[in-house]
Amino acid sequence: MKNSIQHLVRENIQKLTPYSSARDEFGGSADIFLDANENPYGNYNRYPDPYQRELKKVLGELWNIPTENLFIGNGSDEIIDLLFRIFCTPHKDKALTFSPTYGMYKVSAQINAVELIEEPLTEDFQIDIEKLKERLSQEPTIKLIFICSPNNPTGNNIDHIEQICSFFKGIVVVDEAYIDFSSKDSWANKIEKFSNLLVSRTLSKAYAMASLRLGIAVTSKEIINWLNKVKPPYNISQVNQEIAIKILKDKESFNSKKQEILNQKKKIENELFKLSYIEKVYPSEANFILIKVKDADFIYNCLMEKGIIIRSRNKQISNTLRITVGTAKENEKLLKAMQIL
Ligand SMILES: *Cc1c(COP(=O)(O)O)cnc(C)c1O
Repeated sequence: MKNSIQHLVRENIQKLTPYSSARDEFGGSADIFLDANENPYGNYNRYPDPYQRELKKVLGELWNIPTENLFIGNGSDEIIDLLFRIFCTPHKDKALTFSPTYGMYKVSAQINAVELIEEPLTEDFQIDIEKLKERLSQEPTIKLIFICSPNNPTGNNIDHIEQICSFFKGIVVVDEAYIDFSSKDSWANKIEKFSNLLVSRTLSKAYAMASLRLGIAVTSKEIINWLNKVKPPYNISQVNQEIAIKILKDKESFNSKKQEILNQKKKIENELFKLSYIEKVYPSEANFILIKVKDADFIYNCLMEKGIIIRSRNKQISNTLRITVGTAKENEKLLKAMQIL
C-alpha cells in the first residue's frame, strides 16, 4: 500500500502551495529574530513551534511511535475537519460511518458539503462486513470511513478493523478517544502495515486535558504531510504545548486517575444492575456507561431536578441514557438519586 494516498487527495489540495511561515523558512538558532513581525517585548510574544516538536517527542516516547508519524490538532475535531478538506471534494466525494456513533463526523461532513453515509451497526453494535462491502461497491466516491472504537455512545470495541483497512481503498479513520480505558490495544501500532490507516487519539478524556484541545493523529508519513500542508500554521498555542508536556510527564497521576475511574465504573455498574427499572446496562470499554430504561426522558428529568446532568441518547437508541463516570463522591450522589426515583 505504499504511495497509494496521493490519488485520493483533492485536486486543489494536490496543487496547493502551503503557507510558508517565518519559522518554516528559518528553523535554525540565531541571536536575533526580526523575521516574523513579532513584538520584541513580553512573555507570550513569539509564535509557537508550528510542528510541536517537544510535545511530539514526549507523546512518541509515551506511545512508542516515531514522531514523524504524529500530527497534533486543536482537538480531534480539527483533525476530522482537515480530513474532509484534504480528501473529499464538496458535493462529489462521500464518507461513511456506522451509527449510532459520535456526532461530529456528521456535522463536519455537512460543513464541508460532503454526504456522510450512515450504515447501521448490528444488534450487538458491530459492523456488518458483507453489507459494508456491498455499499462500497455501489458508492465508488467514498473516500473516508470513520470507525469509533470504543464506540461513543455504545461503549464497545468494534471488530473487523484490520479487514476493512485491507479491502477499503480510501482512508480508514479509527477514532480512539476512549482507547486508554479499553482492555484492547490501540490500532496505532498497525500504521506500518496500512498506509491508509489513521488513528485519532485525544488528550481530552483519559489524559484529563479537554480544556487544552489536543487531538493526535497517528498515521503514515504521507498522510501526516498532507495534514501539515492544510492545517493553520500555528494551530497549537505554546502555552498549551508546555502544559501538556508537564502533565504527560506525570505518568503516575495518569495511571492512578485512570484506575480510579475504572474502579468507579465497576462500582456504578454493579449498583445499576440492582435497579429494577433499568432494562440493560451495556458493557463499556470507556469512561461512560450506556443504560436502557423504560422511560429515558422521565429518568433524565428526575435527575436534572436533583442537579445531576446525564446525557440522553434517546434519539440514537430508544430509551437510552449515557452516564459519564465521575468522582467517588459524585457517583455516590448519582446512585443515591437513582435509587429513590
Ligand atoms: C470526546 C471525543 C473526542 C474528543 O474530541 P476532542 O476534540 O479531542 O476533545 C473524539 N472522538 C470521540 C468519539 C469522542 O467521544
